[in-house]
Amino acid sequence: LQADPCNIVIFGASGDLTRRKLLPALARMHHWNLLAPNSRIIGVMRDPSWHAERWQSYVHASLEEFHPDSINDDASWQSISTMLELTIGDLTDASMYQRLRENMKSSNGRTNALFYLAIPPQWYESAVSALHQSGLLDESDGFRRIVIEKPFGSDLESACALNLTFREYVKESQVYRIDHYLGKEGVQNLMVFRFANTVFEPLWNRNYIDHVQISVSETIGVEYRADYYEKAGALVDMIQSHLIQVMTLVAMEAPVSLDGNAIRDEKVKVLKSVRAIPSDQVDRFAVRAQYAGGTIDGKRVPAYRDEPDVDPASTAETFAALKLYIDNWRWQDVPFLLRTGKRLPERVSEIAIRFKQPPKNLFAHIKEHLPQNELVFRLHPEEGMIFLLNAKQPGLNDQLHKLALDAPYAMTGSDSPEAYETLLHDALLGETALFSRADEVEESWRIVAPVMEAWKQPGSIRFYEAGSSDIPDIDTIMEGCIGCWRDLSTVYQHGYT
Ligand code: NAP
Repeated sequence: LQADPCNIVIFGASGDLTRRKLLPALARMHHWNLLAPNSRIIGVMRDPSWHAERWQSYVHASLEEFHPDSINDDASWQSISTMLELTIGDLTDASMYQRLRENMKSSNGRTNALFYLAIPPQWYESAVSALHQSGLLDESDGFRRIVIEKPFGSDLESACALNLTFREYVKESQVYRIDHYLGKEGVQNLMVFRFANTVFEPLWNRNYIDHVQISVSETIGVEYRADYYEKAGALVDMIQSHLIQVMTLVAMEAPVSLDGNAIRDEKVKVLKSVRAIPSDQVDRFAVRAQYAGGTIDGKRVPAYRDEPDVDPASTAETFAALKLYIDNWRWQDVPFLLRTGKRLPERVSEIAIRFKQPPKNLFAHIKEHLPQNELVFRLHPEEGMIFLLNAKQPGLNDQLHKLALDAPYAMTGSDSPEAYETLLHDALLGETALFSRADEVEESWRIVAPVMEAWKQPGSIRFYEAGSSDIPDIDTIMEGCIGCWRDLSTVYQHGYT
């Protein structure tokens, strides 16, 4: 579906996010004919040395590096390049907004505007208030939407303050808070899988599900993000946002419709039902650790504390795991285990639903403990679903084996959109379901607040070797769950037969 013509205004057009994600996503949308030809991509630069030709070659170089297919013929680049405009000026300077208005002048029905704030979060307030004061948020002749990137605050208090600021200048329906995890195909499939089929929904509750494990493991270290990561750590960087969002999609009730607010209403109900972690028992519900030096893919890698711009005595966690309970009829006493870390042996993202065991094991003489059935939604490396069952091993013996019904998500040769394409397209169409609402953001900060508070106290952090999944104390939060943490290497490297 092609979006209406729009001025796509990027604040922070010279930044990393624009170069690596936004420009390639826009080029791909253009390739798929999802952008009206009359749309404009207006980069806002504060450095006066920028000019139109430099902006053109900057965009060309970004696409060459991150999405060469989008400009593999002259005609494609020609038609993208005609969409590019540039506005120079600091976002605190009122005259910049006058110039921007000039660049945005409507033509052939192009009166809409999407302002993408790809700038450091401390500038969100200045940008929104200046846009408001300059009249650029007035929706009398078309829509005016603002897209912002996480972090949405750095704790519950600052998140509430940020929401309050936005409320002063724009309606909630104009704000699109990006959590790129929600743009992933595999995450969107969760809703379809749950609510377009009847077979699993009757099992989708505390009667049949023992616990849920949501895991995102990375092999990379902190890279160039030490400045942010030192303050955030894995809990805030990943769990407070992405993993809790994914959990809500696993746990929510069926919405009354696919309308953005209907879906977000259900997600908020889940978040509000999450049991508060008692501040004096955080160690029973949360584990943290930091990577020491080690080996990844055969190469020696430094400890987190030896990475550039990291405090040599840093206690920022690079691994965090959390056990949450959702106190409602469907999920009472079912643990939701969320874990994420850097410098782990595999790059894997998955959601594993682990079912209870049969009430009586008729095969105890063959297998004393039957492996539990598991339904795994793989988000990475290959999106797909795996259902692990126990089956008879063919032959004249009495053996059982684990059978994996493995369904790759994408059809061979299909061209799935990247998360940013999906999200930008939805923002242009006014579809809000994949964006976090203010109350969702606040509730997820509330959930992690006791852990953040406890981890602020001076105390020692435990260490794991880079490249190893041997995290100290990780099993303490498995208490009450049958089985152990899933070995993230098994499914992908060896497969089940
Ligand atoms: P970045 O590479 O540091 O770029 C920041 C951009 O903001 C630059 O274009 C910079 O312009 C501009 N800027 C900074 N202060 C400004 C001011 N006072 N007035 C006008 N422009 C100003 O940061 P980034 O990685 O692209 O991140 C942008 C936003 O996305 C941040 O909120 C970040 O948290 C979020 N985010 C980024 C990623 C990612 O993959 N990069 C992922 C998730 C979230 P100059 O070039 O003139 O300095």
